Amino acid sequence: MDRRSALDKLARRIPLGCAIFVGVVAALVLAGWATDFHELLRFTPNGVAMIPATAVCFLLAATSLALSNRAAESDITRWVQKLLALVVAAIAIIEFLEYQYEPSFGIDLILFRDSVLAAPWRPAGRIAVNTSAALLLMSLGLLFLTHDIKKRDLRSQLFAAGGLVVAILALLGYVFGVRELYSFNVGSGMALPAVICFLVLGIGILFAHRERGFSSLLVDHGAAGVMTRRLLPAAMVLPVLLALLRVAGQRAGMYESEFGITLFAGVSIVTFLAVVLWAARVLREMDNDRSALILREQDARSAAERARIEAETARTEAERANTIKTDFLAVMSHELRTPLTAIMGYEELLSDGITGPVTDQQRQQLGRINASAHHLLGLIDEILTFARVDVGREKIRLDKVSMNTAIAEAAALVEPMATAKSLRFVVVNLFEDQSITTDRTKFKQMLVNLLSNAIKFTDQGEVRLTAAIRGDLAELCVSDTGIGIDADHLEAVFEPFWQVEQGATRRAGGTGLGLSVTRKLARLLGGDVTVKTAVQKGSTFTLTLPLVSPIQSGLKRHTPGPIPIK
Ligand code: ADP
Repeated sequence: MDRRSALDKLARRIPLGCAIFVGVVAALVLAGWATDFHELLRFTPNGVAMIPATAVCFLLAATSLALSNRAAESDITRWVQKLLALVVAAIAIIEFLEYQYEPSFGIDLILFRDSVLAAPWRPAGRIAVNTSAALLLMSLGLLFLTHDIKKRDLRSQLFAAGGLVVAILALLGYVFGVRELYSFNVGSGMALPAVICFLVLGIGILFAHRERGFSSLLVDHGAAGVMTRRLLPAAMVLPVLLALLRVAGQRAGMYESEFGITLFAGVSIVTFLAVVLWAARVLREMDNDRSALILREQDARSAAERARIEAETARTEAERANTIKTDFLAVMSHELRTPLTAIMGYEELLSDGITGPVTDQQRQQLGRINASAHHLLGLIDEILTFARVDVGREKIRLDKVSMNTAIAEAAALVEPMATAKSLRFVVVNLFEDQSITTDRTKFKQMLVNLLSNAIKFTDQGEVRLTAAIRGDLAELCVSDTGIGIDADHLEAVFEPFWQVEQGATRRAGGTGLGLSVTRKLARLLGGDVTVKTAVQKGSTFTLTLPLVSPIQSGLKRHTPGPIPIK
């Protein structure tokens, strides 16, 4: 835990701790009276003892202070807390009036009458004048405790401080043996345990409002807090020590009164000088700390700013590199396509015998040229589509498509491949045809991609295409009994230019773009492609598409015109 939170935690606990201390002392005093053992709490043989009425007042005040901790939580607690403070105030006022005008309200002897009458203090059982005054001030301090921290109300602290002054005077009276300071009236006075209880109670009340006034300085996290915490003990203890020294010297006959006063002044000057210099040093240290902190913060800020600019530059660079790559792919595919179309055109002219008669062997060779050219064209188209989809320039044309028709058309394109490999090729159409609003070409392209993969990677058994409708989604499953895909590679197969098993792929050919393009197209149309597979058992690729593409139902997609090709 850092020092700040430790300080806050301590400050939070002070009011309750003080309340418990005062409550325990008051209870002990009452127990002392009940057992005729009140001597215990007099501390000095001929000192004044706390009388039962004072102890009861302390008990009530301590409970009020303890409740103030929880007063924010319920109205009842708040009312009880105030009521207890009022009772203490009332007792203090009654006792005061009794001194002044000598009526008797009879509260002095309610508790432990005989023991109180037997005790030497007079009037018997009456709270001393200064004790009643301090009790009244403390009870007002408790009464004005408010839990609305926004209020800058300092009344509670001022009353508590007043009570503390009365108690401190009494304490000094005890320390210096000046009876008038703790006993305003002949026959009784403020007992030493009462002095201690007042000091503790006062501190508790001050800290109940630690967010404002005097106590806020003590718990302050900044320079003010450090100064107050360090100087306060010195400011309180040093004058007392100096005065004690002076009085002791004078009593021992070491010097006259004038000499004593002069000595007191001299030592005070030296002491306060030391305290002032010490305070100045503390302030300078803190100033230095703060400057170092500000420098560090500035460093951190400029480092963060540098990192942000670097990240921004890296992102722009990456985007630029991606665009260059895609543009390169698009341009290159286009440049390849042009001569290829020419090759295919000439092959057609040759096959048609326009340039002269063709032998059987030549026709067979021309057939191979044609097949290879078509294959190459397919690959180039795939790269082109990938490039367009990758930069979001793929154009979508929505149409009402009959699912069974599109499925049949896609199946017809790949069926010869399956037949050539002696694979069973099964198509399970929709029982009742359904129209789907999507891009017809892309829909077929995705099916062809999945089906041709299934055929490519299956040597025996079957390839099956099943169509179904699930809610507002069309589901197309392409399953095969082929080589399957290792679990480690399941997501990688959707990465561009990624091929699982080099041997089989080489054998089967391909760019490693088919699945990547298929998934991108599916997502573009509001659907997706997923796969389930087991090695050497087969795979099932599932294409889901919404029956109505979200583009039509208002969802905007970034689909500016086709990629510009020179
Ligand atoms: P290509 O088929 O052009 O190599 P794809 O992106 O279509 O590229 O497929 C990527 C890889 O995923 C293929 O190389 C293959 O290893 C694996 N794959 C795709 N479909 C299947 C399938 N039905 N059965 C087994 N492996 C497959």
